[in-house]
Amino acid sequence: MSDLSSLGDVRGRRVLVRSDLNVPLDGPADDRAISDDGRIRASVPTIQKLVEAGARVVVAAHLGRPQGAPDPAYSLRPVADRLGELLGAPVAFATDTVGESARQTVAALGDGEVALLENVRFNAGETSKDEAERGAFADELAALADAFVSDGFGVVHRKQASVYDVAQRLPHAMGDLVATEIEVLRRLTVDPERPYVVVLGGSKVSDKLGVIDNLLGKADKLLIGGGMVFTFLKAQGHEVGKSLLEDDQLDVCRSYLQRAEESGVEIVLPTDVVVDTAFPSGDTEPHPSVVPASEIPADALGLDIGPDSGAAFAAALQGARTVFWNGPMGVFEVAAFAEGTRAVAQALTEIDGLSVVGGGDSAAAVRALGFDEAAFGHISTGGGASLEYLEGKELPGITVLED
Ligand code: ADP
Ligand code: MG
Repeated sequence: MSDLSSLGDVRGRRVLVRSDLNVPLDGPADDRAISDDGRIRASVPTIQKLVEAGARVVVAAHLGRPQGAPDPAYSLRPVADRLGELLGAPVAFATDTVGESARQTVAALGDGEVALLENVRFNAGETSKDEAERGAFADELAALADAFVSDGFGVVHRKQASVYDVAQRLPHAMGDLVATEIEVLRRLTVDPERPYVVVLGGSKVSDKLGVIDNLLGKADKLLIGGGMVFTFLKAQGHEVGKSLLEDDQLDVCRSYLQRAEESGVEIVLPTDVVVDTAFPSGDTEPHPSVVPASEIPADALGLDIGPDSGAAFAAALQGARTVFWNGPMGVFEVAAFAEGTRAVAQALTEIDGLSVVGGGDSAAAVRALGFDEAAFGHISTGGGASLEYLEGKELPGITVLED
C-alpha cells in the first residue's frame, strides 16, 4: 500500500494531513487544558517527516462532537499550541476549517512550516451521511492542498469528508502512524503467535460483541472485566445489584459462553468484585468493599475487578505470546477502583511477545497509572477503528487509499 514515499518529492507542496488530535480537555470553555496529549504526540512523527521533507503541512483534525457548527468549547486552538511545543516550531492556527482564515493561513505557509485548521466537525459536511454534502466539504478541503496523507487512525473506520472523500480528490498516501497500526492489527488476526490472550473491559458490552464474536475463533483465552462483565455474570445466573447491565444482551452473552466452551476457548470472569453503593463522583468519598462476584448486594454496583481476580488475570496472561487488551477493568479514573486495571497493565508489561493496548481510555489509563509506554508492544490510538478491524470489518479510510 502507498506509504509516504509514494508521494514523491513534497518540497514546496501543500500536504493535507488528517491526524487524530481528539484529546481530552479539562477546564472552562475559554481556558481549556489538555489532560492527556498522547494522540498529539503520536501524530508528531508523520508531521515531522513531512516538515523535514520541506512540505507545507496543513493538518486537519476533529475534537469532540460539536453539532456541525462552530463551538468554542471544541476549538482546536489549545491543540495547536501543544503541537507547536512538541514539534519545536510554531504551528499557525486557522480559525475556520475551509474559509478565509484557512485559505490565508495556508497561503502564508513556507516550506517546512505547519498549520492546523479549526475542528473539521464545525462543518456539517464532515460527518454528513449525504454524499453530496460530504463531497462539497471535501472539495473545499482538497482545494487547500496538493496531496493528502491519512494518519488519523482513530477515524479510519469513519466514512467522513476529511478521512474518506478527500482521499478520492487528491494524490494520497498512508501516514506512518496508520501504517504501523494496520501492521500490528494484521499480526493480531493473521496467524497470531500462541498462546493468544484477549482482555476486554470498558463500559459497553454491545460495542464489543462483534469483537468477541470474531475472536472466539482466534484467541486461546478471553478475560472479561470492566463494566461489561456484569452482563456476563448475570447471564451465568448471578445477581449484579445496580451494576452496569445490558439486559438485551444476556442471550448473546450466554451464546458466547456456550460457544467458548464448545470451541475450547477459556473465558475468564472475575471471582471477586470491588463494589460501592454509588458511582464515584467528585463530591463524595468512595467506600469500596470487595465481595464475591456471585454475591453482589442488591444496593451495590461493581466498579472494579477484585484483588483475587486481578491476580488471576495476571496469571492467565503469563506466558502469552500475543495479547490484545481493550477497555479498563474498572473505573480507573478513581484510585479506589484502579487496581484491576493496574494489575492487567502490569501483566502486559511482562509479556514476552506482542502486547497491544487498544482503546482511548485504556491507553489513557496506562499513562495515568504511571506506566512507561515503551513497556508495551504497541499502544493503539484508535479504539473504534481497531475494534472494527478485529471484528473483520472493512475500514473505509483504509480501503479508499488502495485505489
Ligand atoms: P476504551 O476507550 O479503552 O475502549 P471504553 O470506552 O469501553 O474503553 O470504557 C472506558 C470506561 O469504562 C472508563 O471511563 C471506565 O471508568 C469505565 N468503566 C470501567 N469499569 C466500569 C464499571 N465496572 N462500571 C462502570 N464503568 C466502568
Ligand atoms: Mg472510550
